[in-house]
Amino acid sequence: NRQIILTTVPEGALGPHHFELTEAPMPAPAQGEVLLRTVLMSIDAANRSWMKGATYRAAVQAGDAMPTYAICEVVESASPRLSKGDVVAAEVVWADHVVRPAHKVQKLPPVQPLTHLLSVYGIAGKTAFHGLMQVGQPLAGETIVVSAAAGSVGGYVGQIGKALGCRVVGIAGGAEKCAFVRDELGFDDCIDYRSTGMFKALRAACPDGVDVYFDNVGGTVLETVLGLMNERGRVVCCGAISQYDTDTPTGPRNLPGVVVVKRLRMEGFIVMDFARDDAKAMRALQAWVRAGQIKVTEDVVEGLENAPQALIGLLNGENRGKRMVRVGPD
Ligand code: NDP
Repeated sequence: NRQIILTTVPEGALGPHHFELTEAPMPAPAQGEVLLRTVLMSIDAANRSWMKGATYRAAVQAGDAMPTYAICEVVESASPRLSKGDVVAAEVVWADHVVRPAHKVQKLPPVQPLTHLLSVYGIAGKTAFHGLMQVGQPLAGETIVVSAAAGSVGGYVGQIGKALGCRVVGIAGGAEKCAFVRDELGFDDCIDYRSTGMFKALRAACPDGVDVYFDNVGGTVLETVLGLMNERGRVVCCGAISQYDTDTPTGPRNLPGVVVVKRLRMEGFIVMDFARDDAKAMRALQAWVRAGQIKVTEDVVEGLENAPQALIGLLNGENRGKRMVRVGPD
């Protein structure tokens, strides 16, 4: 049974030398447990932030098998809750097989393709939906700006915003990614945060100012957008990817002054906070997908052994849409 260990906690940027692929004996389920075969592992920016210390979950430490959220198949069950062949979502580790208590595993609806359970109907889609609807609360006609717009959460935020009748402007790295966000995802505009003159370009793209900023990145991008917020604007603090893979973080310099003067509301959230509304999110997302208003973009990397490079690449902006690793067949 192959598994991947985080051998050292990185200082600065994450690299392949921080991981090791090891062989361990095949685990066996005790009473109340299930043996799971990993099918698809979610590769998330958060995987890197877990290495920086305890947050809403325990920190990942040197010597730990790398934790992940995954879609798995039950191959052996010692619990009446689940049967062989069930498809489940579980917190597992980067490994071919893992044993988990059956009550910690969630049986999934029969959605095809399975990849959609990690992208549009998984954490990415739910994070976009709950964060925008419950925290951002946009009204039709308002302007939404979203960063990491070509990524999984950001891509859905913008498309939901369009479906709600808002003006949507993305922020992404590079001209080619910005063209993808405009042409493929249907945003009104997209600004390259790596080119100079970002403030002016964003101001031109948002002639009526910014009502909702869905922030996935923090740092200087957040500082720039704060300068363009309208009075009573809402800043949805979803993540801070610009701060995860560095030991020299840089925060916005205009806080808290700009929040005071513009009467802004900045509010963070974790997707699980809104779990009670997951069914509502699922129904809304399914309707938008069926109506062609949400395009599902997925970025599937093949093979467990490529998981470290998949995460490193995500942190360097390699992905378009939801990145995941296929460990085994559906
Ligand atoms: P994405 O698919 O959005 O991929 C990450 C993207 O971030 C990259 O493609 C890259 O695109 C961009 N990026 C990387 N470094 C920087 C940087 N220094 N400045 C600006 N952009 C950068 O990843 P996820 O969907 O996994 O995560 C998106 C955000 O959502 C993260 O902040 C994550 O922590 C957060 N999140 C929060 C949840 C919650 O419950 N609050 C749940 C799930 C995710 P580019 O080429 O454009 O730079």
